[in-house]
Amino acid sequence: MRMSRLFSQTLRDTPANTDTISHQLLLRAGFIRQLGSGIYSYLPLAKRSLNKIEHIMHQEMTGIGGQEVQMPVVQPADIWKETGRWYQIGTEMGRFTDKSGHDMVLAMTHEEAVADIVRREVRSYRQLPALIYHIQTKWRDDPRPRAGLIRVREFTMLDSYSLDADWAGLDTQYNAHSEAYNRIFRRCGLPTVSVKADTGMMGGRLSHEFMYLSLIGEDTIMLCRQCGYTANRQVATLRKPTADPVAALPLTKVATPGITTITDLCRFLNIQAAATAKAVFMMASCIENDAQVNKFIFAVVRGDMEVNETKLANAVKARDLRPATDSEIRSIGAVPGYGSPIGVHDAIVVVDEAITVSPNLVAGANAEGFHVLNVNYGRDFKANIIADIAMARDGDLCPECGASLESSRGVEVGNIFQLGTRYSEAMHCLYQDADGDDKPVIMGSYGIGLGRLLACIAEEHHDDMGLCMPLSVAPYHVHLIALKGDAKTEQLADQIYMKLQAGGIEVLYDDRGERPGVKFMDADLIGLPLRITVGERALARGGVELKHRRNKASEIVPIESIDDCVNAELGMLWKNLTSVEMRNL
Ligand SMILES: [Zn+2]
Repeated sequence: MRMSRLFSQTLRDTPANTDTISHQLLLRAGFIRQLGSGIYSYLPLAKRSLNKIEHIMHQEMTGIGGQEVQMPVVQPADIWKETGRWYQIGTEMGRFTDKSGHDMVLAMTHEEAVADIVRREVRSYRQLPALIYHIQTKWRDDPRPRAGLIRVREFTMLDSYSLDADWAGLDTQYNAHSEAYNRIFRRCGLPTVSVKADTGMMGGRLSHEFMYLSLIGEDTIMLCRQCGYTANRQVATLRKPTADPVAALPLTKVATPGITTITDLCRFLNIQAAATAKAVFMMASCIENDAQVNKFIFAVVRGDMEVNETKLANAVKARDLRPATDSEIRSIGAVPGYGSPIGVHDAIVVVDEAITVSPNLVAGANAEGFHVLNVNYGRDFKANIIADIAMARDGDLCPECGASLESSRGVEVGNIFQLGTRYSEAMHCLYQDADGDDKPVIMGSYGIGLGRLLACIAEEHHDDMGLCMPLSVAPYHVHLIALKGDAKTEQLADQIYMKLQAGGIEVLYDDRGERPGVKFMDADLIGLPLRITVGERALARGGVELKHRRNKASEIVPIESIDDCVNAELGMLWKNLTSVEMRNL
């Protein structure tokens, strides 16, 4: 490609309202342009990178038995009503009415479309297992698009769907995806870790996320360096210290004027936070019989712990949680700042499991300025739900080995779900087993967002001057620069351009009439792995200059053997890329 003909332009200055390196560099290097909030166009350089990423994905999906299909983005709402997600998903879902008045959906994922195909195509256990996938556009009306391609509203995703007759089959396909995803990320030069995750709006029984550890990430991951336990903080568990069994003491009301926080309470009574019960009041929006109902949630954790809202929402099967207002708190018989589960009404009491084994806790008295000593679960109050609703934090004990947990920020670049029969039961995807009995197909779903992956690659591979794209996903292999000189220099650069291309090497050829400084800056910004400079100075030394984007040093290589030299360097870059180990914890 001649740069004089390249459609996109580089930008000298950092664009306004960009807070991440990947966003800045992809804009400046002319890879992407923004059309609207969370909506981007991919220009030729980015499209070439995406094509390469897609090629890797096709290879890996085919390698685990995937067959490519293509399912529509615009879908009738009926299938989403069948699974209930039409009602469960809030404003993130793009909805509209077609001219005949039918409810329509802009697909945010394709489980419903897959289930509809499966119930039409799959009759017998002999057709299973199966794996179908596509690379397709999705729409999620995210309220807070940010960080360029990291968090968008329209995006392209590789999504695949496994279909099995039994759970062992699902395990096999799930594990195959996990390995294929690791290979995809490694081949793209992106280090990731796989962590246990919330199943969220997908439902199902098991989920893992593939995280690129980075400070720009919005997810928090809990890691154990001792045993390798990793989980998204939304679902991370912790080993909770148990209290020694002691006799339950009598309830005693004490005056605690003006004390409304656990910290003040501990100071006032000279006790540890672990000896207190903390009340958290939330309003949950739940779906029952396809209608939205609001429920008051009275959550109780020990004073030394925090409530994990994802765990709490899952425990009460809520779509959303929000903090309750003071008047809502008073309406169930509790008092803000002095809340106690004793004597509340019209609330769903959810108690962390640690509360049930912690005797003689100090809790609010549901009276302004009073607390109660020696509150004991079972004797003094009961819960509607006992669950693990505590947030894992730095220094908490690893649930597997008891060592100390650490937190890290991460960007989710892939996600895999064991859906089970959630969709096949709702949409009657049945197959006949060997005995002639109808059974629901067991499903898994798996996804990687392509734009976010490209952004994470840019985050990982750059320096102060610009991108340093890994060979596997770089738009071109070689950036060829012709410095302005006599006609012979330009003729020579043209010849090298033709020769390299004839040998299958992808070349971006800067044939523009720009100053050398501009050409070098653009080459660094776009960040192709190798740079060749044809200029009088190198010619006087018997060749052209060859330089790795990552290295400062360059060498002079003879023109006759330029293709051999480039191939040798590219071969080395391929080898380095495939030998990259995933980042160790
Ligand atoms: Zn551990």
